[in-house]
Amino acid sequence: GGLPPFVNEPMADFTRREQREAFPRAIAGVRKQLGKTYPLFIGGRDVPTGDTLPTVNPSNPAEVLGTICQAGVAEVGGAIAAAKAALPAWRDTEPRVRAEYLLKAAAAARRRIFELSAWQVLEIGKQWDQAYADVGEAIDFLEYYAREMVRLGKPQRVGNAPGELNHYLYQPKGVAAVIAPWNFPLAISMGMVSAAIVTGNCVVYKPSGLTSIIGHHLVELFQEAGLPAGVFNFTPGRGSVMGDYLVDHPDISLIAFTGSMEVGLRIIERAAKVHPGQVNVKKIVCEMGGKNAIVIDDDADLDEAVPHVLYSAFGFQGQKCSACSRVIVLDAVYDKFVERLVSMARATTVGSSEDPAHYMGAVADDKAMNSIKEYIEIGRKEGNVLYESPVPAGGGYFVPMTIIDGIRPEHRLAQEEIFGPVLAVMRVKDFDQAIEWANSTRFALTGGVFSRSPEHLEKARREFRVGNLYLNRNNTGALVERQPFGGAQMSGVGTKAGGPDYLLHFMDPRVVTENT
Ligand code: GLU
Repeated sequence: GGLPPFVNEPMADFTRREQREAFPRAIAGVRKQLGKTYPLFIGGRDVPTGDTLPTVNPSNPAEVLGTICQAGVAEVGGAIAAAKAALPAWRDTEPRVRAEYLLKAAAAARRRIFELSAWQVLEIGKQWDQAYADVGEAIDFLEYYAREMVRLGKPQRVGNAPGELNHYLYQPKGVAAVIAPWNFPLAISMGMVSAAIVTGNCVVYKPSGLTSIIGHHLVELFQEAGLPAGVFNFTPGRGSVMGDYLVDHPDISLIAFTGSMEVGLRIIERAAKVHPGQVNVKKIVCEMGGKNAIVIDDDADLDEAVPHVLYSAFGFQGQKCSACSRVIVLDAVYDKFVERLVSMARATTVGSSEDPAHYMGAVADDKAMNSIKEYIEIGRKEGNVLYESPVPAGGGYFVPMTIIDGIRPEHRLAQEEIFGPVLAVMRVKDFDQAIEWANSTRFALTGGVFSRSPEHLEKARREFRVGNLYLNRNNTGALVERQPFGGAQMSGVGTKAGGPDYLLHFMDPRVVTENT
């Protein structure tokens, strides 16, 4: 029968006592599971390795969460071979049957939603609501792409010339490499993996080293769904050891990547080279960085704009490629807006995201911490620091919530993705200049405008050329189906996760013409 229409998974609601109480219980439950060793998963089997790395709690790096077996070149080669062996049968499995596996994985994730969220609080420092939203988004991708494949899986009749029957249909690309980031560790991984799988590709998946336990949750969910052996393979490993091998391999036909511009461009360049034995031109699905701006018009409702900007800039410590890192404010409201923004920032605290009282938690790791701190020093020279929050003492990877004004388009703070809680404030004379400055980076991912002027909102729709533009709301938290997500220019190759074109990137169209 047909599937019921897609609906988004509800957000957490901590006004409800049972949800509020479930969360700390889930964190305590996860703490009882610490210290395990996680093997690779290749061809339907657990594969332990001698080479391992720990994964830790960024709020307290002395707390080791688990040990992750690391894939080297041999294991990645084995995973690609397993995927290739599974491909003929999986490719020829009915789309509706492939979709069922996604729906079963979604049901499994829904049953474990608090536990999976709790892991995110500990492994990457997400706030409770943001962790829950990430798991919800992973479920949404599974439910949405399952339905999309059912829609696309039926051959379409095209043309109407007499004596001729034309069918338009899709086939998978082949073996897909999925290289995932740590910032939406379940959602983005599951989005790329489930899109590849449901379209009939077999997958070799490399999670980020910082969130490999969450990466292993994909193994658990697909095992629970009964996915055939070899369709999904899990190969965490050091990028420096196995990244290039995976990208260069002649049996890889598709690479889905979300991460930094530097790594994305490197993958695109390497994937262009054809190696002996290779029969496919590699297809790249790639989402990269952002340098996203919110414009504050002179008639903006500041009661709305101030909390939305704060959340867009500092939610999950600003570690979203959608995050607001520039706020462009019209001169007429500049002083009032900035004063209110800073006073709201002052009212928040930074500390472990295990405690929901904190607005901001630790950043991903020591590398991220040091790079963000360097940018704060650059900002101190380029502009002036309006606010720098206190941070907790101890060994956690904390950086201050930082607001810096006096920034202009030529400054590094206005051009480079910092990927942390550093907000540049820019003063403009009018709305035209605001849109000009908003567009003045190489990125084009998200953007926002707070205005009550219909003409200005209309101008923004036309001229603020980002992949996801938000009018009078925050610019993070895109929802599957409602805000298909992704940008152009140096933000990506124009794909839209959670949107109606997404699965098409994972397949090749064919046309069969019969002379009747
Ligand atoms: N989809 C997320 C959002 O809208 C951002 C994804 C990312 O950071 O890669 O906030």
